[in-house]
Amino acid sequence: MNGPPDLFTTIFVASPVPIGLCEDGVFIAVNPALCELFARPEAELLGSSTVPFTHPDDLHTNRDIGGVLAAARARGESAVQLEKRYVRPDGEVVWAWLTVTMTSGPNGEEWTLIHPQDVTDRKAAESALRRSEARSAALNRIARCVQERRDPRQEVVDSAHALAGGCLAALLEPRDAGGGAGDGAGVLEVTAASVPGVVGALVPLRSRSWTAEAHRSGEVVLVPDAAGDPRGRHEPPGTARARSLVCCPLTTPGGVAAVLLVCWDRAVAAPGDEAVQAVLQLADGAAVALGHARLVAELEASATTDALTGLPNRRGWDEHLSHLAAVCERGGEPLTVAVLDVDRFKAYNDAEGHLAGDRLLAEVARRVRAELRTGDVVARWGGEEFTIALPGCPADAARVLLERVRLAVRTARGCSIGFATRSGAEGPEALLRRADEALYAAKRAGRDRVVDAASR
Ligand code: GH3
Ligand code: MG
Ligand code: MG
Repeated sequence: MNGPPDLFTTIFVASPVPIGLCEDGVFIAVNPALCELFARPEAELLGSSTVPFTHPDDLHTNRDIGGVLAAARARGESAVQLEKRYVRPDGEVVWAWLTVTMTSGPNGEEWTLIHPQDVTDRKAAESALRRSEARSAALNRIARCVQERRDPRQEVVDSAHALAGGCLAALLEPRDAGGGAGDGAGVLEVTAASVPGVVGALVPLRSRSWTAEAHRSGEVVLVPDAAGDPRGRHEPPGTARARSLVCCPLTTPGGVAAVLLVCWDRAVAAPGDEAVQAVLQLADGAAVALGHARLVAELEASATTDALTGLPNRRGWDEHLSHLAAVCERGGEPLTVAVLDVDRFKAYNDAEGHLAGDRLLAEVARRVRAELRTGDVVARWGGEEFTIALPGCPADAARVLLERVRLAVRTARGCSIGFATRSGAEGPEALLRRADEALYAAKRAGRDRVVDAASR
């Protein structure tokens, strides 16, 4: 530039607003503020279009701009505004609110003046707000599950999947593998998953898997690169194709209640990653919901369970019996109901003490249970009386089985049993009444025996 700059050049150069002037789609003038926005020197910009600096997902704005300007001109307008992203040399993405104004050069050239305003901070705030709203909505849905007594597990994994993206979200909960509590033979079982075919998968608690580690330590385990790592061998199916994963312990006052596992098929390296943050923030609410759901389940179970023997109580029995009666009636199957009463139990209590009496009742419960099949039900009806339901069992088979029960109980204390078998549409109460009457007949006949109501 020869001589001192003119007034307009001074304004152009000193303006904090990025300004660029284009002819035939390429820059013919750029001010320092625009160079700063693009983080590129003037020489790189002059003679170039904005295509090389535009985010790949926004290249359509370059393709469309001619048509958009023509439409504006047809409406009698000289400017259009649009939002797009530019990429700086270091890969940083800049959001710009762009004003493109059609103007003429001194010799009638068709020029466009562009004013890109940096709105990156606003866009970041907007997306943070959207994420925060999505998180609150997810936590509300989980809380509502608890309030409405619905199982929150599926909602937890679906929300984790929706908020964090990725290829799998799963909830793993500890359960004893049958080797007895405390012997380390426990497993983590997948109780809910965002994809089919994963629920029911088991991860040994003693394994070196990341989920087991998160459960043991109570600490979040973030694995940026899981591919090919042997520790992934024990993880649930669906994890195999994961590139990165996070295992987040869900902690309740009683300890780690579950592990929330989220996998991505892309690299998620840092704990500060938005997707990881979404999982961590969901985890607190999920832990509260899970703890609450378990408490409700325990309360419901305790309302139908006898504390001394662990058997269903009278309320539990009523539920089992009406269910079995309906099932057997539908299937045209016989149903046998028996009442067992410990003989001269009062005398035992008087001689040995009430606590010994309690232990005897628990022992009787164990012995009866041990003689029955899985589908059979034994309940503590009250005091020293137990009720037994044998679905699908006809009277002759019931007599053989109940004799075995009587002999099994007898080594602890004699007992009397009355039973009744239903073949028609007799209601469960009437069936139980007949079994009870048979029990009284057994007592009258001298105790320590099994009496069939039909034989009376
Ligand atoms: P029978 O052979 O006629 O059945 O005589 P019984 O003594 O077993 O019958 P009775 O109905 O006279 O007495 C039942 C006793 O069971 C009386 C009661 O104190 C005792 N009992 C009821 N519930 C419990 C309990 O939970 N624990 C203990 N230890 N005793 C109980
Ligand atoms: Mg009794
Ligand atoms: Mg008795």
